[in-house]
Amino acid sequence: MADKCIFCGIVGGEIPNHTVYEDSMVLAFLDIFPHAKGHTVVIPKDHFESLWDMDTDTFQSILAGVRATAGRVQARLKPDGMNIGINNGKSAGQVVPHVHWHIIPRWEGDGGGSMHSIIKNPGDKSVDEIAKLFK
Ligand code: AMP
Ligand code: ZN
Repeated sequence: MADKCIFCGIVGGEIPNHTVYEDSMVLAFLDIFPHAKGHTVVIPKDHFESLWDMDTDTFQSILAGVRATAGRVQARLKPDGMNIGINNGKSAGQVVPHVHWHIIPRWEGDGGGSMHSIIKNPGDKSVDEIAKLFK
């Protein structure tokens, strides 16, 4: 299929990968441009562009695969910690339009930041004003 996304190409076996974990719902493989040793990407085997394109049951099954992958990375690489997250949408940094979880192993003194280092631009509304949106 000419317009198949790159991650669907990996699931289909047309593009090679270094598999870390696989089950009926997900495939996890080493990121080709790692930001840390053992940087791993977990993808659903079905094509969903973003988090909003799947139902809750599917999400939960995928999340179980994310946790299993993280456990495997932890067991093999023994990092001190890890960051796990999604760039959900272009403005959040998503480049490949097939939703995926990044598992980024972390070591003391590795020079990396936390989730808080993604952005520090809280906008002009107070937390109290934002809280009204959730009442
Ligand atoms: P994102 O910016 O969240 O869309 O990240 C996409 C990730 O996929 C990047 O970290 C890429 O390095 C990674 N990536 C892209 N193509 C491949 C590939 N063929 N095999 C492994 N990882 C890939
Ligand atoms: Zn895809």
